[in-house]
Amino acid sequence: MDRTIQLRVLPTDGTRPAQPKEKCGIFGIWGDPDAARTAYLALFALQHRGQESAGIAVSNGEDLEGHLGMGLVRDVFSASDLNRLARFGSAGAIGHNRYSTAGGSLICNTQPLIERTGDGPVAVAHNGNLVNAEALRRLFAERGHLFHTTSDTEVMIHLLASPDQRETPDPLAASMRRLQGAFSVVFLFPDRIEAARDPWGWRPLVLGELERDGRLCPVVVSETVALDVIGARFVREVEPGEIVTLSDAGVESRQFAEPADHLAMCIFEHVYFASPASTVFGQNVLGAREEMGRTLAREAPVDADWVMPMPDSGRSAANGYAHESGIPYREAIVPNRYVGRTFIKPTQGEREAAVRLKLNIVREIVEGKRLIVVDDSIVRGTTTRLKMLQLREAGAREIHLRISAPPIRHPCHFGVDFACKEQLIANGKSVEEIRAFLGVDSLHFLSLEGLLGVARHDPQAYCTGCFSGEYRVDVEHPQTGEIRSKEQARMF
Ligand code: SF4
Repeated sequence: MDRTIQLRVLPTDGTRPAQPKEKCGIFGIWGDPDAARTAYLALFALQHRGQESAGIAVSNGEDLEGHLGMGLVRDVFSASDLNRLARFGSAGAIGHNRYSTAGGSLICNTQPLIERTGDGPVAVAHNGNLVNAEALRRLFAERGHLFHTTSDTEVMIHLLASPDQRETPDPLAASMRRLQGAFSVVFLFPDRIEAARDPWGWRPLVLGELERDGRLCPVVVSETVALDVIGARFVREVEPGEIVTLSDAGVESRQFAEPADHLAMCIFEHVYFASPASTVFGQNVLGAREEMGRTLAREAPVDADWVMPMPDSGRSAANGYAHESGIPYREAIVPNRYVGRTFIKPTQGEREAAVRLKLNIVREIVEGKRLIVVDDSIVRGTTTRLKMLQLREAGAREIHLRISAPPIRHPCHFGVDFACKEQLIANGKSVEEIRAFLGVDSLHFLSLEGLLGVARHDPQAYCTGCFSGEYRVDVEHPQTGEIRSKEQARMF
């Protein structure tokens, strides 16, 4: 997947900066005597879901404490930070890895958010993006509530603390029913963890259990790969519309809403976002990506010397393509693993230097050869174009680019930070125009039917909004808060 770092400029027309869209990793464990360290390990396993900030909150049974910071998990937590959390308490812990757009990259938005309501302390960690957060924020602001983040997650705490919800028999369920959009969320209270998944099932959330000293500690987490890392066992997915409570009493479940008639599991989790080692929506991600590659080979065969992945995102699909086509798999684009994501590249020249630094070409393999290059997706196209140019410079005779997802023509309102519509390379362009821009000999995107054919569930159970422009719910404009129908949402 090609990515460029975007500098966000605050608008001068009176509108609010867009709320950060958050594609994140979340974790919770109850009853583990080593809760903070277990959360730390789990966040390492979820690092691919967010690299901008990380945080852990722990409970001692009466109060909460946390440690949060900007950067990777390894940079945010020192041994003494973890020791401090462990000394504070180990009744339960939740953790969060956060990714957001540059405009939302603020220390105040790091999670878990820890607040004190009339009912005591609460911490919250959220994956997804609410599409009615601006309306709720305005409602509370008119009532005099103060906000100290720009994150949509904070409205959940205001809902929970407001009399409208507190006076109901189940304030958390009542709060969850007020939310529209994507949310897999964990709340830490002094005596329990509560985790909820939206009725559309946009983002993954699974339950597991970890054996400690002969006791089973319940776990809730974004992806199964983290269960493997901490040595826990997969139990089941949290269902759309479900709340699970993790406490000394074990795991209890209730529905806060019926699952939506048409679920909206994010198909992009399978294309790019989730770890290949995870099972997401009941399907192994690596297997799904290989199958996408096989389908791609059947849809767009071409004769060549090598099938070559764009590392690392195109690797599984390239494997599938090579198996299906019988063309040998070779790697000749080598990532430099020591180039971090931490420095900003404000000019095109600096961005190009960064891409050259990040991906090195093995000339001996490429020179004079016909290449099938496989990647998972193209967003803006500028990075892909530069990579193709590097292959040409290294002597590639032909380049046939194969993408294991359809063209991304529409924005995502549910937690994946695609550029605004105008910046998407596929917006308003034909495949031939994109091919010419990228400078390759041929280009094929996996069809939407081909992609959904790989997925395990009924095609109607997946969100495909960024490919099809068909959204499941009405959404609000990210800056003005204006509500647009799901049919109009593709215009943002
Ligand atoms: S619009 Fe695309 S990225 Fe966003 S939730 Fe839907 S499928 Fe996933």
